[in-house]
Amino acid sequence: MTTGLLEVHGVHKSYGTLEVLSGVDLTVKPGEVTVILGPSGSGKSTLLRVINHLEKVDRGFVALDGDLIGYARKGDTLRELKEKDILKQRTQIGFVFQNFNLFPHLTALENVVEAPVSAQGRPRAEVEVEARALLERVGLADKADARPRQLSGGQQQRVAIARALATKPRLLLFDEPTSALDPELVGEVLDVIKGLAHEGTTLVVVTHEIGFAREVADTVVFMDAGVVVEQGPPAQVIDAPLHERTRAFLDKVL
Ligand code: ADP
Ligand code: MG
Repeated sequence: MTTGLLEVHGVHKSYGTLEVLSGVDLTVKPGEVTVILGPSGSGKSTLLRVINHLEKVDRGFVALDGDLIGYARKGDTLRELKEKDILKQRTQIGFVFQNFNLFPHLTALENVVEAPVSAQGRPRAEVEVEARALLERVGLADKADARPRQLSGGQQQRVAIARALATKPRLLLFDEPTSALDPELVGEVLDVIKGLAHEGTTLVVVTHEIGFAREVADTVVFMDAGVVVEQGPPAQVIDAPLHERTRAFLDKVL
């Protein structure tokens, strides 16, 4: 049925009478980096939230390595997974938000340890060893005991990346991971994401950082008004876009 690690097929999503996703198809192969570009309000965040079943689709489906997200097939019918199983399935997909969304009352280490222990039921001691290694990997070994408010935005976002990696997800989603950062902190976060890309982690990144897209993306997807307008390698979509809507957007952000 599927050729990609992630398959998004014919996804429609409305809020009331507003259709936000109008038939989105997307295939992400293992080890690939997909960058999603598009104007504000085009449905990028909703698409990421649908992939992680933070929002339910109205029509279409999302599958990760052949498993439907949020549903199980029973004969000819689909039934929605129970909350506990949804949480468990979600550990297969890491999510990094624009505003970090760290637990403010937990230390950096505790933030990273939380999901593997609570959603995956793994032993805390073992998870802590891995969590320290993850903090080291994002350059924050010395901040394990700091709380989010004691960290800069760039450091908080790097903790959020370590947290997203802690469940050993098969896919990582980033929703404008550097948009809330002061300009001088953008680079340290993009460097961590680039490192993941070079290690072969499968990434879907919504961003307006065109330089990053050019350098790291295997595929660039341009969305507008709830549809994928065009997609292809950066040299095509960014440097020789086929569609006027893509050109108009790039003229504004470049
Ligand atoms: P983008 O991330 O590309 O800026 P979004 O996916 O956040 O776009 O939003 C797409 C559209 O859906 C916008 O018009 C937004 O106002 C609307 N929208 C998003 N989330 C909700 C919601 N929970 N309820 C109602 N409308 C929403
Ligand atoms: Mg958004």
